[in-house]
Amino acid sequence: MAQGIPDKIMSNTTLIKDLADVAKDAALLQGVLMRIHETPNSSELVTYAPFTLFPTPVPKAVFLQALAVQTHYNTLVDKISQDPEFLEEALASTIVVDDFTARLFRIHQQILKEGRSQSIVLGLNRSDYMLDQGDDGSSSLKQIEINTFAASFGGLSSRTPDVHRHVLKVAGQLEESRRILDNNPAAGLAKAVAKAWELYGSERAVVMFLVEEGQRNIFDQRYIENELWKRNISTIRKRFDDVTKTGSLDQDKRLFVDDQEVAVVYFRDGYMPENYISEKTWDARLLMERSLAVKCPDISTHLAGTKKVQQVLASPGVLEKFFPDQPQVVEQIRATFAGLYTLDMGPEGEKTVAMALAAPDRFVLKPQREGGGNNIYGSEICQVLQGVKQSTERMAYILMDKIHPTPVQNYLLRRDGPLKISNCLSELGVFGTYVRQGKDMVMNECAGHLLRTKSSEHSDGGVAAGVAVLDNPLLV
Ligand code: ADP
Ligand code: MG
Ligand code: MG
Repeated sequence: MAQGIPDKIMSNTTLIKDLADVAKDAALLQGVLMRIHETPNSSELVTYAPFTLFPTPVPKAVFLQALAVQTHYNTLVDKISQDPEFLEEALASTIVVDDFTARLFRIHQQILKEGRSQSIVLGLNRSDYMLDQGDDGSSSLKQIEINTFAASFGGLSSRTPDVHRHVLKVAGQLEESRRILDNNPAAGLAKAVAKAWELYGSERAVVMFLVEEGQRNIFDQRYIENELWKRNISTIRKRFDDVTKTGSLDQDKRLFVDDQEVAVVYFRDGYMPENYISEKTWDARLLMERSLAVKCPDISTHLAGTKKVQQVLASPGVLEKFFPDQPQVVEQIRATFAGLYTLDMGPEGEKTVAMALAAPDRFVLKPQREGGGNNIYGSEICQVLQGVKQSTERMAYILMDKIHPTPVQNYLLRRDGPLKISNCLSELGVFGTYVRQGKDMVMNECAGHLLRTKSSEHSDGGVAAGVAVLDNPLLV
């Protein structure tokens, strides 16, 4: 492995087995934890969150590039969320055929009509990238997507550096162990939440984590909760159902859940259609949106994170509109864009269909969904497009260039998984945080990173989807 772990270690099966045992214990000791699949709502049985045995080499220049562009992405997301005309135009075709996005959009319209009750905005996002391998061996940073809703693993990734450092030391790689960076997104995310809470301005109000039914990944969130408790900010964990049953607004639109005033709603649930099990869930979402509580994200920032918006941003002249006097910012953001193509009705969309059918392996077909496992690849692109190409149904998708990172060998450690060497691909995430009050950006920061790695036999899927595992960059 180039500039990574020496082959003599990678191929020494006895050593690898020992190191895997050491690594798992290190992960448990560091608190890189998940509840087990069978009992997602109990901490009686927990296991290590899946992770790689070794960190993965990442070129320093592209890593720094990803960090450097993050505050601009924060600004961009925020500007989009403040631009109703842009959102309406960008999503006009999508909402004709995608019911979920349409529903979100209707909430957005309703909030605009009523007038936003809260001028404080809290953004916690994660911009994800893969490193596209050039013919000359170079790698360029290409954004896969930006997550403005429930971007996870900021907590656990704050603890993985020490695990890999330890493994490398035990493997006799002291020099390499020093190249693993510190990382603390948990503190960075909590800092922004705390700022929003403070600006809300009520000592007794709490931060509400709106959590999913099955809470396997609770520890990832606990890190952020604990950072808030350290600042003497109370947090509560509630589900949509709790808000349905006990949520209300007072005459000033202050949100109360279980008789507690909520200063900040941090959504960790509500990004998939399946999260909305009934009309009551939608009512609960609307209640929170209408409230005085700071929403992370608010409905417009949620929409700003859709894949359709990402595609529209890549069209000529669009970034310039958001940064009219900052050509260097435009350039810095655009440098990270992969090719993105519309499937709207009309000649541009026709061109996209023809291009995809001619060379499906060069592309990824994406619907407006989150959470991994929804994209379409290879011959299936042809199947799907053949079915929808004549109808407006095709507008539910966007097409994207497929990124080809350099495969790297590693061992993926997961509960009950076999210990075998895999060809792996990695995805680098960068956490961004911002808080705005009215027109003032009071905070805009890069809050750390996340590396996720999966076997190259899987084209899609994140850690929660059971495909990718946690990793750390080893800067080279
Ligand atoms: P989601 O919101 O479901 O996470 P993504 O756009 O991140 O959607 O896609 C899910 C996964 O699919 C990514 O983590 C990555 O592994 C793979 N993927 C997405 N887009 C591309 C692309 N353009 N090239 C290669 N792989 C991709
Ligand atoms: Mg996503
Ligand atoms: Mg993703």
